[in-house]
Amino acid sequence: MSGISDSIESFRAAAAEADIHTVEVAVPDTQGHLRGKRVPAKRFLENTFESGANIADAMFVFDMQNDLPDNEFVNMDTGYLDAHLVPDNSTGRIFSHRPGYGLVFADAVNEHGDPHPLAPRSVLAAQIERCRAAGLEPVVATELEFFLCNPDWTPVQAHIQYSSLTDGMEFEAVLADMRSALLGAGIEVEGSNAEYGAGQFEINAGPADAMTAADNTVLFKSIVKQVAMQHGYKATFMPKPWAEQSGSGMHVHTSLTSADGKNAFGDCSEGEPNDVMRAWMGGLLEHAEAMTLLGAPTSNGPKRIRPYTFAPTHVCWGLDNRTVLARCIAESGSSANRVEFRSAGADANPYLIIAGILAAGTDGIERNLDPGAMGSGDMYGNPGDCTALPTDLPGAIAAFEGSELASRLGDTFSRSYVSIAQAELPLAAENNPDPDDVNDWERERFIEHC
Ligand code: GLU
Ligand code: MG
Repeated sequence: MSGISDSIESFRAAAAEADIHTVEVAVPDTQGHLRGKRVPAKRFLENTFESGANIADAMFVFDMQNDLPDNEFVNMDTGYLDAHLVPDNSTGRIFSHRPGYGLVFADAVNEHGDPHPLAPRSVLAAQIERCRAAGLEPVVATELEFFLCNPDWTPVQAHIQYSSLTDGMEFEAVLADMRSALLGAGIEVEGSNAEYGAGQFEINAGPADAMTAADNTVLFKSIVKQVAMQHGYKATFMPKPWAEQSGSGMHVHTSLTSADGKNAFGDCSEGEPNDVMRAWMGGLLEHAEAMTLLGAPTSNGPKRIRPYTFAPTHVCWGLDNRTVLARCIAESGSSANRVEFRSAGADANPYLIIAGILAAGTDGIERNLDPGAMGSGDMYGNPGDCTALPTDLPGAIAAFEGSELASRLGDTFSRSYVSIAQAELPLAAENNPDPDDVNDWERERFIEHC
């Protein structure tokens, strides 16, 4: 049986059918890494599903290496408290690639029983509510790229054969197992292909409500890494592992369901966004510079934002054009109409970048923001008067800190998030000051953990 159990009763039935022995109670950290507790299935089903579990709140202020940079909210003086984990029993999965195991996501609450302000699931939940208050239910899909590597972190191929069905057949066994493991965990897979990088692949997940899409995305990364390992390989979502190769992105597609159950972007004319889509994109562009930090939270991610890499460099929108930031799919009367936001790297925390997109888009709708003229053609070579996105971490931090977007996401969260990013600056300055080069120190720091 595959799919997502939407209640403890259906999870109980699925757990019995699959004869699982262990339930992972999972909570995503600020870096998008899944942490949690492994609980014997019997104990989870009798007790933990209701009573929950505890985990050190330090996990919300870790950097990529689990170091604890200075933080004003979680530190030695606050005593590194336990956050309480409340299982969200509508998120149960049974794994097919690790028989005997299932997983349930959990929300973290603080010592007062309130949503933990630093927990990415709390940050996203607040923005989903904001979108709902505007009468719209967000529907989200992510597209992730990654490099498949040998155990020494060299890519498995030295040449590119984009989307080939002939080349690279020696890797199809591992890719096929990844697709089935994802399907087994209730993640709809639309397809996979070889990407435009040596050893780079992409797997596209289907659309889901915003929280499920974020849950699916962190699980996706974990499963891809686990299946790679089962085959003797490694997989990395580091956004720019090699300066001379393509980077890996996390493209985020969003549409909105209105109260009548229809796609609010549905009634576009061919190639012409409707008013709701225009306002949504207006919001995305208004906050795009600030959003860079959510999509590129370390010194490595901004190195992906370079001309002629198919990652966007300017704040612009367009139709089917891989050089723009917000690519809209606007077909006549199509329920598949959506806006693809292309600036985040594959290391982005999906909860946070999706929260940023919802915060920005909702602001666009509330204020009826205008996205301006459509960008067309080569937006790298001819960006016109479009603003350039930040291309390094100091620029990304400066655009986010104190921004309207930061305050929409919550002051406590945003201040903590900025301090984690700021702690990267002296490390990068000391170990790799070159804004364009990716050196061994940087790969060592990020390749395993992204
Ligand atoms: N690899 C590119 C990026 O880093 C995206 C390529 C594509 O259009 O799929 O965003
Ligand atoms: Mg791609």
